[in-house]
Amino acid sequence: MIQHNTPLLPYNTFGLAARAAHFTEVFDVRELQSALQSGIQPVLILGGGSNMLLTQDVPGLVIKNAIRGMELVRSAGNTAFVKVGGGVVWHDFVCWAVEKGYGGIENLSLIPGTVGAAPVQNIGAYGVELKDVFVELEAVELASGQQQVFNHADCRFGYRDSVFKHENKGKYCITSVTFALTQQEHKLHLSYGDIQKTLESNGVTQPSIADVSKAVIQIRSSKLPDPAVIGNCGSFFKNPETDRAVLEKIRLSHPQVVSYNLPDGRVKIPAGWLIEQCGWKGKRVGNTGCYEKQALVLVNYGGATGTEVKNLAYAIIDSVEKTFGIRLEPEVNIF
Ligand SMILES: Cc1cc2nc3c(=O)[nH]c(=O)nc-3n(C[C@H](O)[C@H](O)[C@H](O)COP(=O)(O)OP(=O)(O)OC[C@H]3O[C@@H](n4cnc5c(N)ncnc54)[C@H](O)[C@@H]3O)c2cc1C
Repeated sequence: MIQHNTPLLPYNTFGLAARAAHFTEVFDVRELQSALQSGIQPVLILGGGSNMLLTQDVPGLVIKNAIRGMELVRSAGNTAFVKVGGGVVWHDFVCWAVEKGYGGIENLSLIPGTVGAAPVQNIGAYGVELKDVFVELEAVELASGQQQVFNHADCRFGYRDSVFKHENKGKYCITSVTFALTQQEHKLHLSYGDIQKTLESNGVTQPSIADVSKAVIQIRSSKLPDPAVIGNCGSFFKNPETDRAVLEKIRLSHPQVVSYNLPDGRVKIPAGWLIEQCGWKGKRVGNTGCYEKQALVLVNYGGATGTEVKNLAYAIIDSVEKTFGIRLEPEVNIF
């Protein structure tokens, strides 16, 4: 059933009061194909709305992906091949996997949003990315309603990036994703962030995937604002990757600059650090602002418009560029 002039406030974690000209929720591929046959254009696929900045009402048809299902499709040696519906809440999938004893996604605990949106920006946290456990996905082409399979190479995953942010942007609805998870002898990633320290303070010496998931949840809950309390989309900007020469130039004026080496000889500089140096951390502008505990996160204190948040984002981008010569890129999808 297609609704009209639907408020999107309950459907985006920034808590922005945009409206959809037309809106429907689909629970299986057939419902999706039938919604597409309505011919209403343009079509916007919505998951959990946790990576979207809505700066205006959305014309055309918003389709909320609510396609469910989680199943073990094949087991081969130590690998469990698991197929998950695109509308499943990502963290519900992580909890299910941890409970079943399937490893590989425990570091991605508590990331908001849906499984279908996860490949779009190759979600990542604490040293693990979706691409590390991805096998293939099924998607429906919006223009034709035809189903297609994309394998790992087809998706062209990069840092918070995939083909679905470039030439396939807005062209497909991802209806399911298949993952390869470990059944035993899990490869734990403990060196990133405070995971090891948190495990120690929990008294854990031989961590299981459940221990790692719990530690990640503890760390994330202490650092990131809960969208149910303060509207936000997590990290608003990507961490810039730049030439070493740029880093060395910054080091002359800021000897304490933080950086991480990349395999190609370039370096990654935390965007949060750059923003903090420019004095934005904790700064409030009208109803929006830069979160006090993490400068990478922009927040809606209540009643902010998408345009207010966007203006703040671009003021930050300009200020970082003026100070450091690095132009930050938004990670969030701006509509
Ligand atoms: C508090 C908080 C913390 C976060 N932490 C992280 C983190 O640690 N790491 C990280 O990577 N991200 C993080 N995010 C960002 C966000 O959770 C992810 O980008 C997530 O994958 C978005 O999922 P969604 O279902 O909410 O997508 P939406 O916001 O609904 O959509 C995002 C984009 O994907 C498209 N899309 C959605 N579903 C589909 C589909 N089925 N098929 C095709 N296109 C689709 C949309 O059209 C849109 O362009 C965080 C967000 C918040 C609010």
